[in-house]
Amino acid sequence: MSSQQYPDVFRDTLKLLAILTPLDSRLQGATPEDVNQKAQVWAATILDAQITFDWLNAAVKKVYAQAERPLNPLGAIIAEAKRLRSQSSRFSAAALPPPRRASEPVAGAYSAHGAIDRRCFECGAQAGEPCTARNSDGSLRPRVAPHVSRLQNHAPHAA
Ligand SMILES: [Zn+2]
Repeated sequence: MSSQQYPDVFRDTLKLLAILTPLDSRLQGATPEDVNQKAQVWAATILDAQITFDWLNAAVKKVYAQAERPLNPLGAIIAEAKRLRSQSSRFSAAALPPPRRASEPVAGAYSAHGAIDRRCFECGAQAGEPCTARNSDGSLRPRVAPHVSRLQNHAPHAA
């Protein structure tokens, strides 16, 4: 993720203050200058914490759902946003399937119809060996599945 830029963070901070104002009476009745000044201070803190608006917005709902209004709204929101973010990345990392190399031959595809027991007329693979395909650089790699003609046990139509 690229790092956040101050103008974007400042704009997001104004959005955040607009969301917070109805929730926190301490922010109400501020003049536009007050809001601008507060946004500058908050934006610097948010930029330093490297938290995106989506996480802050999600944190506001959590922080202000509690009975006690936070003494330091921004501090509480950033802390909660970081907690939500780390929780989310833990979950998504756990949900990811283990990486599988796309080029690995799939055993089931080769055992189907006994293809692995025959040589391949198309690529010349011997019985017991996977079919091969040619990479763009000319080197050979095993095919994920055997050639169709090997599955069907006949020579491909003369080319
Ligand atoms: Zn083959």
